[in-house]
This record gives sequence, C-alpha cells and structure tokens, in this order.
Amino acid sequence: MDMQTSPATALRIDGARLWQSLMDLARIGGTPKGGVCRIALTDLDRQGRDLFVQWAREAGCSIRVDAIGNIFARRAGADDSLAPVMTGSHIDTQPTGGKFDGNYGVMAGLEVVRTLNAAGVRTRAPIEVAVWTNEEGSRFVPVMMGSGVFAGAFTLEHALAQRDAQGVSVAEALAAIGYAGQAGAAPAVGAYFEAHIEQGPVLENHGRVIGVVQAALGQRWYDVTVQGMEAHAGPTPMELRQDALLAASALVAEVNRIALDRLPHARGTVGSLEVHPNSRNVIPGRVKLSVDLRAPDDAQLLDMDAALRAACARIAAERGLAIDVEQVVYFPPQPFTPHLVEAVRANAADLGYSCMDVVSGAGHDAVYVARVAPAAMIFVPCADGISHNEIEDADPAHLEAGCNVLLRAMLASAGVVA
Ligand SMILES: [Zn+2]
Repeated sequence: MDMQTSPATALRIDGARLWQSLMDLARIGGTPKGGVCRIALTDLDRQGRDLFVQWAREAGCSIRVDAIGNIFARRAGADDSLAPVMTGSHIDTQPTGGKFDGNYGVMAGLEVVRTLNAAGVRTRAPIEVAVWTNEEGSRFVPVMMGSGVFAGAFTLEHALAQRDAQGVSVAEALAAIGYAGQAGAAPAVGAYFEAHIEQGPVLENHGRVIGVVQAALGQRWYDVTVQGMEAHAGPTPMELRQDALLAASALVAEVNRIALDRLPHARGTVGSLEVHPNSRNVIPGRVKLSVDLRAPDDAQLLDMDAALRAACARIAAERGLAIDVEQVVYFPPQPFTPHLVEAVRANAADLGYSCMDVVSGAGHDAVYVARVAPAAMIFVPCADGISHNEIEDADPAHLEAGCNVLLRAMLASAGVVA
C-alpha cells in the first residue's frame, strides 16, 4: 500500500507515554545514583519481565517465551501466516547500568504497539516485540545470549549450561524466575528493527538526532606476550637490555596508528597490560597485553591483523626479543540489510529529523538477528556518549524521534490494511 495515501503516515508515537514507561521500568532495580542494576535472570530481572508482559497483555498482545527465556509479545496481523515484523532489545543491565541501554528498544517497541492500538491501525503482517535474554553478559557469558541462541550462533544446550560465579546455571536461573519456555526452532522473522541509544559521542558531536546504522564493526581480540629478559635496573647498561615493557609501549603506539591510518571507522585499543615482575628496580622481563581491533568489513579487519603481526615482528627484531600474538576472539563484521537501512534513513528524513550514517562499535542483539533475518538499527544520542554508567541519560525528544522512525519503518515492512 502506498504510505503517502495512508492515514498511517500521520501517526506519531506518544513521547510522554514512552518516557513514563522507561521511568516506571527503571524503578525496578533503580540505584540511588539514578541508574539501574537489573542483572540477567535475577529476581529483579523477573520483575522487569513481568511488568513488560503485563503491559504487553494489556495492549492486547499474546506472549510466547522460548527455551532460553526470550519473550515475544505479538500483535496479530491481518494475515497471521506472514512472518512477523519484529523489534526489541534487552532489559538486563550492567551492575552500574543506566535506564536506557536496551530498555529503550523494548519500551519503544511497546510504544509502537500502543500507538497502533490507539489509532486502530491493522498491519498486514503481525508485529512482535522481543525481550532478549542476557544481552549484557555480566552474570553469564557469552553476551547476547538470547539472540545468539535464536540466531544459531551457539547452541541452546551450550547457553543453558553456563554458570555464574556462584555456580548457578542459566537453566537453573531461568527456571527459578519462571522464564524457561518452550524449545523449538526459531520462527522466521520478516524484518527486525532495533532502536538503541548510541552509547558513543558521534551523533551528539555532529548535532544529529538519528543514526542510520550501516553495520556492526567486526572484532578481533588478541593476547600478546612480549618476552624479554629481567635484569637489575642499576648495573645493566641501557644498550644491553631486553626491556619487554619498552617493546610493549612501542606496540601500544602501533595499535593506535593502525586504527588512525584507517579512519573513520577502524578502532584499535590496548586496554590491559600485565608487567612481570612489576618491580621498581627490575627491567621488565615479560609483558602480556590485550589488543582489540575493530573494522566495518572483513578486508579492512584482515589488513589490520596483518599490520599488527608485521608491527610485532618488526619491534621484536629491532629490540632482540620475542613477541607472541594469539587471536582469542573473532566476531565477523555484520552489515545491516540495505533496504531496511534505507527505510530508516527515508523515514527519518520524511519526519524532518536530522540524521547521519554511523556504524555500531558495540555488540547488540540486532547483530545476531541480522544473521538470520533482514535487520537494521536506529541510534539516538545519549548524553555525552556515556553508557554502561548510572549517569546514562537521553533527551526525551530524541527518544521520541527514534521511536517515530521505528514506527514508520515497521509499518512500511508490515504493510497497513486500510
Ligand atoms: Zn544494549
């Protein structure tokens, strides 16, 4: 149906209602500093899930829970045999998390349903709002567990067997909160959209309201060991040292340069150094460091991998010591689906919101869902780019804008029945 002639074109979500839902949900696990601590599969997570389920039922949705505890709230379509147009995110948080990370995507989906109800709009395909289990990975690894199982990134059995620091398994924790649902193959999804705060500063720096997410960066993580020789800091002349920390510091600068040479999207970070023996008057004999490289496509990521290995070989040769590089994690880059990305851009422009193309540097449930369904993401700014922090904040007008884009993109995919 032509959206231009549809009354759906005039539809807008209720920004105040969206904000109120976010604030009400944030009371569950709310911290004195204004953040939220709602760790996956705890009783607080159950309370948050129960509130979502209650709201979704009140909005006329049917509820389905799968075997890893993902919740799907479904608003029937005119043709319920069609694959649903889905949105969603997560409501688990970091121990010192904020009110918006993940929660925004879920509440935005609920707000879309409420808006369609209030206007009496019927969609051709069903609409579903997903709450994905354990996106944050702070209690159980791997991160993005629910969407990972859904997308077949790892098995249900593997996920259920994971244990927290107290030895409680995911299966036990799911049963304890009453969210161990039905096993079965993941149903087809017609299209998936996820609205999320950006968790970085790019939109704010550019003064834009909507981030049109092109892709999620691929990631390669490494453990690097520099092996030199410990010696006394006093008697050992400068020219006769095999200083592992000096070599490691050259490598830290190289990792930074590898990313700087590949702007705007490449990232290179050394976040952890372990110096041995870490003593004031001993020349460091061994340093272990982490390297995290990210890029939007595999060719660039492989090029960065080659540059890292070349830098290690060169520094080792120049300084007469050994550097060992071991890759420990690989997440492939995940492009989002072009026609859905275009729908996000076109609808943002249509609504008069400023927008720009961005990439996602972090993992999101949408990144896994994109492996099995057409998918796209909508970013909105967060204050100072800060997330995973109790001071995480967002402008209600920006949240409203992102939700309006979500509404329109979902309607375009689902189709509207007059
Ligand atoms: Zn998130």
